[in-house]
Amino acid sequence: MAIVPYTSDGLLPLNHFKHMNGMIKNLFTFSALIAFSCFATAQSKPTDAKLVIVVMDGYRWQELFQGADSTILFSKEMNKSGRSDHAAYWDANIENRKRKLMPFVWGTLAKQGQIFGDRDKGNLVNLRNTYWFSYPGRSEIFAGYFDPKVNSNEYPDNPNTTVLEYLNQQPAYKGKVAAFSSWDAVSRIMARKRSGIYVNVYEEDIPGPSLSTAESFANANQHLVPRVFGEGERIDAVTYAMARSYVQAKHPKIIYLDLGDTDEFAHAGKYDDYLDAGHHADGICGDLWNTLQMDPFYKGQTYLLIVPDHGRGIDAKWTSHGEQTPRCNETYFMAMGPGIAPKGVISNGGQLYQEQYAQTIAKLLGYTFKADHPIAEPVKELFGK
Ligand SMILES: [Zn+2]
Repeated sequence: MAIVPYTSDGLLPLNHFKHMNGMIKNLFTFSALIAFSCFATAQSKPTDAKLVIVVMDGYRWQELFQGADSTILFSKEMNKSGRSDHAAYWDANIENRKRKLMPFVWGTLAKQGQIFGDRDKGNLVNLRNTYWFSYPGRSEIFAGYFDPKVNSNEYPDNPNTTVLEYLNQQPAYKGKVAAFSSWDAVSRIMARKRSGIYVNVYEEDIPGPSLSTAESFANANQHLVPRVFGEGERIDAVTYAMARSYVQAKHPKIIYLDLGDTDEFAHAGKYDDYLDAGHHADGICGDLWNTLQMDPFYKGQTYLLIVPDHGRGIDAKWTSHGEQTPRCNETYFMAMGPGIAPKGVISNGGQLYQEQYAQTIAKLLGYTFKADHPIAEPVKELFGK
């Protein structure tokens, strides 16, 4: 279904009428007025928009905006990957370097959307939570505020209503929200029993009975892959195969894809593998975006947001994050989709916080997220001209 081309103030554009005359025009104007009055009374007008949010666990802004970090890459102490193929992502020129690492972000998203958090250009994105690790980070992203109670990766079901839970209660999105994660804790962060969101994590199969060939293969294949990271964390290529097969078969309207290879390789100190993981995450975003744009259900009416859950330290502390690691509360925010102005890297000296993403997600889909806790304002730059 096509999106009606409302202008930013919700009115049909004037040139919509200009080819019509006489009675037909009057009739059309009359029906348009009725349609508009219905629209005006519904403050949170549901649209048929779709949305994808990709979380890249602990992938730093430094690699996003500057490419591979030579201080770490060429250091035997700081880079424990034991590999010698450093040339894959290295280039002395920063523009070439960052494009080698993330060709989809710089070749497509930067041209069509907006990227916040380039500290070299004076634009800041920070965490609001003070813990600086994974569960509290995701809780802040999806609940839209920092809840100090949520202070552990072992925390049970998230007591806070997330924006995805809220949207899953709206008629237009009910049963149309799906989350795929490499890390099993996402099932608790999404509180799937309470929220009713479909959540697929570590070693879980897509339930039948009627599965597509791709879904059946993704289910079987994930049990043939070595456990690279141990219990509770599958590799991103597997998570993506699950997600992609489900998306093509079931057409969810909201897709949350949570990738974890970056964080795992960083904790292990393997910088080359961490760069590979970032490059692969970029490739996954690109493949998913192109897949959606070939499908009339998604084409031209889908938003893509890409965010991390936290940053990491610098120099020898690049492997770590958490309260003891300075500067790992520095992150970034990327968005593109219908109506988002193609401003590229934002260099306006502004400041965003991670808590703003939840209301941004709701607003992009035409809703105002409400819950029993405070919710931060949306990212207003996405909604301007
Ligand atoms: Zn971590």
